[in-house]
Amino acid sequence: MDYDVDVLIVGAGPAGASTALHLAQRSPSLAARTLVLDKARHPRHKLCGGGLVRDVDTILEGLGLDLQEVPQVDAEMAHLHLEGRGAGVKLGEIAFHVVRRREFDAWLVNKVRDAGVRVAEEVEVLRIDRGPEGMVVETSRGRIRARAVVGADGSRGMCRRFVGGGAGATARLIEVTTPPPPRLDPPLPAEEAVFEFRSIGQGVQGYFWSFPMVIDGERMRNFGIYDSRVVADRPLAGSLRGFLAVELARHGLRLAECKVEGHPIHLFSSASRLAAPGIVLAGDSAGADPLLGEGISVALGYGALAAAALQEGFEAGDLEFAGYTRQVHKSRLGRSLRRRHLAARMIYGMHQPWIQRALWWRMEPLVRAFVRSLVFGWARPPALAITGRR
Ligand SMILES: Cc1cc2nc3c(=O)[nH]c(=O)nc-3n(C[C@H](O)[C@H](O)[C@H](O)COP(=O)(O)OP(=O)(O)OC[C@H]3O[C@@H](n4cnc5c(N)ncnc54)[C@H](O)[C@@H]3O)c2cc1C
Repeated sequence: MDYDVDVLIVGAGPAGASTALHLAQRSPSLAARTLVLDKARHPRHKLCGGGLVRDVDTILEGLGLDLQEVPQVDAEMAHLHLEGRGAGVKLGEIAFHVVRRREFDAWLVNKVRDAGVRVAEEVEVLRIDRGPEGMVVETSRGRIRARAVVGADGSRGMCRRFVGGGAGATARLIEVTTPPPPRLDPPLPAEEAVFEFRSIGQGVQGYFWSFPMVIDGERMRNFGIYDSRVVADRPLAGSLRGFLAVELARHGLRLAECKVEGHPIHLFSSASRLAAPGIVLAGDSAGADPLLGEGISVALGYGALAAAALQEGFEAGDLEFAGYTRQVHKSRLGRSLRRRHLAARMIYGMHQPWIQRALWWRMEPLVRAFVRSLVFGWARPPALAITGRR
């Protein structure tokens, strides 16, 4: 059978772009027979806080890319707070960078093109089938036959449904971006970020965030609420908008005067299936971090693992991807995600005020050490260490 392409990557977000870039690095000939599709055209709007942790720098450096080319602001410190008190954490010299996703994602897609991988935008994948000789993908511009597919189509994507792999919880997030507010609560320097966990007692399985941001050279502030829903039987005592309104009021802002946007995130679970014959999942489609909803470094890491699986599969003439799920779970990324899943269930499940106070107020060194070494830092060199052994 003649194939239109060897590899079809569905979605040109961080997961799809990273898969293409790692493929170009590992196997230029396979990358030349790869096509990336996205239903949108970059630069496209993507709802996101835009926080990039150190693992993003590590992965991009491994690809020979310079993140400094993207407009950004640094969050000098991240404060993990309960009722305004807690641990300040840095991951190296700063806590994390903050970018605008439309700029970061468009930059990455340009790098994909520079690396010699074809990208087609405004092409929506409508249906995927596995025929006797490979994958048949119906798109808004016609049928494409591919030997293998990468599902990097995000939290609401269709590839996960095709694989039957969605055992993870669905987190809910809402956010607003505003000019600098009348005041910051607590009154910290404008370059610092806050994760405030006070609403766990009311059933929010996550936190309220406050990040610095720059849009077209102007300083702005991004606020939002992350509710992981990892503990299925713990109801929320109110609406997410209500919780956001209370937090914004502490900053002198009125929710009614802000543009509120929301989007779900599909979260990692060690019970999720991440591949089926002919297809592997990457990024939100496979599952993001359940503890903090951090998904950009995770998406880039999945891309490295998907590219490794593709290269191995084509070299061995075996595109069943039977070992991919296990390979992801055994990788440094997978192990970090498993720890985050466990930590999320514990922290968001133990809502008693005394336990929360003991955690955030009395165990600062432990919280810092856990975040620095067991949550982040999984992508550190050597780069291939993110690929687990089968
Ligand atoms: C409010 C909010 C705040 C967040 N803040 C942060 C943060 O500060 N830091 C962080 O690390 N993470 C954050 N995240 C998570 C992060 O945005 C995601 O984890 C990340 O975008 C995952 O990348 P991805 O490539 O898997 O998916 P996406 O970025 O969603 O990309 C998927 C791509 O697939 C395309 N697509 C979808 N369906 C189709 C189709 N049928 N055919 C063709 N193309 C298709 C889409 O157009 C899109 O371009 C946040 C998420 C939300 C919702």
